[in-house]
Amino acid sequence: MSTIQQLKTYQMLIDGQWVAAASGLTYQVVDPATEQPIAIVPKGAVADAERAVRAARKAFDSGPWPRKLAVERSELLHKAAGLIRERAEDLALLETRQMGKLLAESLVDVNDAAHTFDYYAGLAVEQHGQTLEVPGESMSMVVREPIGVTAGITPWNFPLLMAAWKVAPSLAAGNVMILKPASVSPLTSLELGHILEAAGLPEGVFQVLTGPGGEVGDYLATSGDIDMVAFTGSVEVGKAIMRAGAGNVKKVGLELGGKSPNIVFEDADFEAAIDGALVGIFAGSGEVCSAGSRLLVQRSIYDRFVGELVSRAMAIRVGAPAEESSEMGPLVSQQQLDTVERYVKIGLQEGAKLATGGHRLEGRGYYYEPTIFVDVDNRMRVAQEEIFGPVLVVIPFETEAEAIAIANDTIYGLAGAVWTRDVTRAMRVIKALRAGITWVNTYHPTYSEAPWGGYKQSGVGRELGTFGLDEYQEVKQINIDLTGRALGVYQHGTEDGKQGKVVSLNDRRPFNDEFKADEWVGYCENCR
Ligand code: NAD
Repeated sequence: MSTIQQLKTYQMLIDGQWVAAASGLTYQVVDPATEQPIAIVPKGAVADAERAVRAARKAFDSGPWPRKLAVERSELLHKAAGLIRERAEDLALLETRQMGKLLAESLVDVNDAAHTFDYYAGLAVEQHGQTLEVPGESMSMVVREPIGVTAGITPWNFPLLMAAWKVAPSLAAGNVMILKPASVSPLTSLELGHILEAAGLPEGVFQVLTGPGGEVGDYLATSGDIDMVAFTGSVEVGKAIMRAGAGNVKKVGLELGGKSPNIVFEDADFEAAIDGALVGIFAGSGEVCSAGSRLLVQRSIYDRFVGELVSRAMAIRVGAPAEESSEMGPLVSQQQLDTVERYVKIGLQEGAKLATGGHRLEGRGYYYEPTIFVDVDNRMRVAQEEIFGPVLVVIPFETEAEAIAIANDTIYGLAGAVWTRDVTRAMRVIKALRAGITWVNTYHPTYSEAPWGGYKQSGVGRELGTFGLDEYQEVKQINIDLTGRALGVYQHGTEDGKQGKVVSLNDRRPFNDEFKADEWVGYCENCR
């Protein structure tokens, strides 16, 4: 039997049907640990996207989902969370095989994805509007409504989790969603389609389109029938999506890249900070948007800190991601490996000092050594541009003010951390950081309950938390007249008009005995 025949063939989910691409074209998903294909996936194109958008429109405009009670949507999302947990080990293994992260990391992601569904299932029934005190005999209230047809476009580094961060709040709010996962790692997103189907989601409410971002993703971002695009990925594509979305002024949510500072002061717990610096950059092979890829270390401890850091990085076991003994897996693709190699060359040309790493590993698989540049100047490209791999740059600083200035000297503003035993210093530095996600004496913990997103070019809007649900909702004000009378503005000669008691459309309070004609500033002389 040939390898091709042994591969599992996937289909896309469009309008409640599992289908091939209209063109019949397919492509292969490759295991980065072995460079061998593991699955065949439909290569969707505009024709498939058009079909999905039509079905999504129908599901939102006349289907049952947006009209369900919040408690019914909540039940279904809880059910989906349970199904994800039941299949956690299989899903984690699939995640690891398609994109190379350690199996232990994939298991954390899958459980976080289940928790995200539970969390938004809970919030769905906790959504409240507002009643407002307004002038006049009126009542004003605010209600929340779904936005409509939403599209989620996700990156390859946390395939199932990034999907969950979009799908769960979107569905909780009563929207429908078309998901376009990254081409290299679409398999767990397709499995999510099976899970939501098994949970009982009506047809067309959740669809998954596989295929190239430049075609399928661009169609979704451009389509006038899509009301919102929630995108996670690179700044470059994020900007293109913003431009494409301008056609119908669709709502655009962007979770983009970062070059986050991890700042170690001389009074920090030395061991904890070393560990945090390593986790900050080498977890997920550094293919993490919030990675602590710029390590700022106070000069007084610099030599000792860097010495220990480098020897610990050299001891990291790089190996097969499904093996328990491995501490770092491969990069996702040959393309990502090329990017990392290119940046290491740039760093060397710029004069950064390579303290360890700097090479790909011999043999099969896209493995790269944990790499550390020391004595880096923050103006260097390796300190300013997102490498998205296991490459750390270490920058010395003298004072707190200097650390803050270096930390904020970047186009990004996604995350950052500070290590110190001085709580007042910790809070001063955190408040000064222009970033949306911050940690004190730790790195990377992420909670469904807390808003996730960046300042500056790291994005627009927030995912997770209550803020993440707000993003998927319109708010509508409803104003109710309690007087039972006409506004009276144009009622010349009528009973109300003769009374001449309208002051302005916003202030009808003078409809009482205290009204004084000479104070009136209304609309028509005849009313006096
Ligand atoms: P990418 O921008 O190349 O691709 C992201 C998605 O966009 C993929 O699904 C891709 O197919 C699609 N796409 C590509 N071109 C498109 C186009 N013209 N129109 C519409 N869609 C298009 O990003 P990536 O390489 O998959 O992921 C890595 C990037 O994602 C990094 O920059 C990382 O920092 C960022 N990221 C950010 C967060 C966050 O929460 N802020 C989380 C994870 C990853």
